[in-house]
Amino acid sequence: MVLLKSIPKLDKFIKNKDFEPYSNKLLTKIAKKTINELRESILKNECSEINEEVLVQKTIKEYKNLTNASLRTLINATGVIVHTNLGRSLISENTFEKVKNIVCSYNNLEYDVKNGHRGERYTHISKIICELLGCEDVLIVNNNASAVFLILNTFAKDKEVIVSRGELVEIGGSFRVPEVMKQSGAILKEVGATNKTHLYDYIDNINENTSMLMKVHKSNYSIEGFTSEISNEELVTLASEKDLIDYYDMGSGHLVDLPYNLDLAEPSVLKLMKNKPSLLSFSGDKLLGSVQAGIIVGKKELIQKLKKNQLLRMLRVDKITLAILEENIKSILIDKKEEIPTLNMLFTSTDILEKRALYVQDQLKDLAQTEVLKTQTVIGGGTTPNKKIPSIALSLSFKNYKENKIEKLLRAAGIIGRIENDHFLLDFRAIKENELDTLINIIKKVINE
Ligand SMILES: *Cc1c(COP(=O)(O)O)cnc(C)c1O
Repeated sequence: MVLLKSIPKLDKFIKNKDFEPYSNKLLTKIAKKTINELRESILKNECSEINEEVLVQKTIKEYKNLTNASLRTLINATGVIVHTNLGRSLISENTFEKVKNIVCSYNNLEYDVKNGHRGERYTHISKIICELLGCEDVLIVNNNASAVFLILNTFAKDKEVIVSRGELVEIGGSFRVPEVMKQSGAILKEVGATNKTHLYDYIDNINENTSMLMKVHKSNYSIEGFTSEISNEELVTLASEKDLIDYYDMGSGHLVDLPYNLDLAEPSVLKLMKNKPSLLSFSGDKLLGSVQAGIIVGKKELIQKLKKNQLLRMLRVDKITLAILEENIKSILIDKKEEIPTLNMLFTSTDILEKRALYVQDQLKDLAQTEVLKTQTVIGGGTTPNKKIPSIALSLSFKNYKENKIEKLLRAAGIIGRIENDHFLLDFRAIKENELDTLINIIKKVINE
């Protein structure tokens, strides 16, 4: 039988010297909770003894749970470069270092230094993007989903937008084109069939309430076999003939020619700009390889109208986004792909990947059963759906553990791999070169535990 009066007094309890390294204010709050819980358990007759040391450790554990950062680094051994669950595109340390000064100091984000009055946050980046793409103007918003929403809301509220039935897609994170249109106030006019939509489907459905012809990249699925869709060029031509706006939601836009003939499946923004589209939008952190952002490019008068929409205030981006994006776009402009990890990973040859796999294999040779394999992976993030690119993997097993057990142990230790044909694989496509030793050390530690 434990008596209530033997409960430690809070003011005395918090003086325990084990609490010294911690913030007094937060600790007192947590300690109060610990003691209250103890009181409850005594009242319910669920407590057989009071051990102050246990209470102290419980309080510290709770404190650490709250104050430890929840976001942590992981090694991406899935092979998927643009992995939305793992943070999509990485920023290079060089780039991050360059923008550090801007972020840590006051700056001219919205200030015109020359004339001493208020400036516009989008001007910094528009010059360089327009130079690169040859577009009239550009607008950056929070992500591509906001870009779609802002465009539809600005130009198609209570008006019809013609979209092919084959493009009414749902992409990850419950972004569904028909739902987004509804929320934006646009009226969806779906045309064609799932597998085939012809130019005449668009033509036949244009009426006085039509405002826009829209195309949506299919992202995470592809239609094969008996199919047809219109090209962006046809969309632009038709829209201009009918005095309508053409808009292509590209999903992942990229600014360089891709390897492995991926350009055939997915042309770069530069190529599409040749058609002189009214509006294009794409993500900043898919194949472009920069930060989360939605990039809208196109005709100046249309971008001006987007800027006047009150919604923009809610979708606007921070200086961190603009500073990193500007730096990344500059790297592309001066042809320094190596500063952009996403592109760097995509362009690394399988010979180099193989060398890295062999190095890791050698380091683990007495500890695990390994085999270096040729494999295939996808880019991810809804880019080039169903297109495989070559990669190199190391199949790994130790202590006769089943592959799911190995996957689980390594995942807990911060390495995310994949299981293929009953084997646990570390795919080297998205592992950075400077992560190899960390990778080896983590695996050794897991094996020795
Ligand atoms: C990824 C994607 C989006 C959403 O882009 P976010 O930058 O993730 O908001 C919209 N449309 C398409 C076709 C996409 O592939």
